[in-house]
Amino acid sequence: MGTPSLAVWKFTSCDGCQLTLLDCEDELLALAGAVRIARFTEASSTVIQGPYDVSLVEGSVTTPEELTRIQRVREQSKILVTIGACATAGGIQALREFSDIAEYQSLVYASPQHVETLATSTPISAHVPVDYELRGCPIDRRQLLEVLTAFLAGRKPNLPDTSVCTECKRRGLTCVMVADGIPCLGPVTHTGCGALCPAHNRGCFGCFGPMNQPNITALVDQLRACGLDERAIDRAFRTFNATAPEFRR
Ligand code: SF4
Ligand code: SF4
Ligand code: SF4
Repeated sequence: MGTPSLAVWKFTSCDGCQLTLLDCEDELLALAGAVRIARFTEASSTVIQGPYDVSLVEGSVTTPEELTRIQRVREQSKILVTIGACATAGGIQALREFSDIAEYQSLVYASPQHVETLATSTPISAHVPVDYELRGCPIDRRQLLEVLTAFLAGRKPNLPDTSVCTECKRRGLTCVMVADGIPCLGPVTHTGCGALCPAHNRGCFGCFGPMNQPNITALVDQLRACGLDERAIDRAFRTFNATAPEFRR
C-alpha cells in the first residue's frame, strides 16, 4: 500500500475543529510523513484530487449545496470521520430549529432573498454513513490523534462513550455539583475532553453531546436541586448539541 491520503472538508462550521488539527504541531509533522495530506484548505491551497483514504468532515448540513456535496465527499472517501458538535449533532446553528429561520435571515442580512439556506442544521450522519464520530466544540486533540494513529496501525480507535463523570473520577477531581451546587451536565455528556471544565471548577455545559443511554430525567432533578428553573434547564440543554435527540427536550 502507498502512503495513505487524508482530506479535510468544511461544511457549515466555524473552523475551530480544523484548527485543532493544526494545533497538533509536533504530531502533525510526524503525521505528514506517514500520510499524504491531499486536501486541507485551512493549511494549504494545494488540492490533490481523490479518492482519499481518510476524510475528516467538519460542519453541519445547512444549505442545498451541502446536501449534494456531502454525497460526493462520501463517494470519494474510504473512511469518513466527522469532527465536532456541528458535524455530529448539527451544532449551535441548529438552534434555528427552535425559531423562525426567515425572521433570523431578515434580522441578520440586508438582502435575505439572496440567502439560500435550509430550515434545519443536520449532522453528517443524517445524510451519509459515517465511520467514526469525534465529539466536542471543539474536538479534543488526543481523540483526533487516536483516530489517525489507529488508522495508520490498522486497528479500531479507542473512543469510549461513557460520561464526563468517569473522567472526573479517574482524575480524582472534586465534584463541583455535589461539593458546590454548581449545575453540571457531566453525568449525561459524552466523555473525551478529560473533564476539562470540572478541572477548572466549572460545571460541564455538554459540548461533547449526549453519552450512550444518558439518564436525562435524573439529571434534570439534580439541576432543579441546584436551583435552576425550567427555562434555565431548557437553556442548559440548548447549546452546541441542542437537536441531538437525547438533549432535545
Ligand atoms: S464544533 Fe464548535 S469548534 Fe468545531 S466547527 Fe463547530 S462550532 Fe467550530
Ligand atoms: S463535576 Fe460534573 S462531571 Fe464531574 S463528577 Fe461532578 S457531575 Fe460529574
Ligand atoms: S467538561 Fe463538558 S463542556 Fe467542558 S469541554 Fe468537557 S464536554 Fe465540553
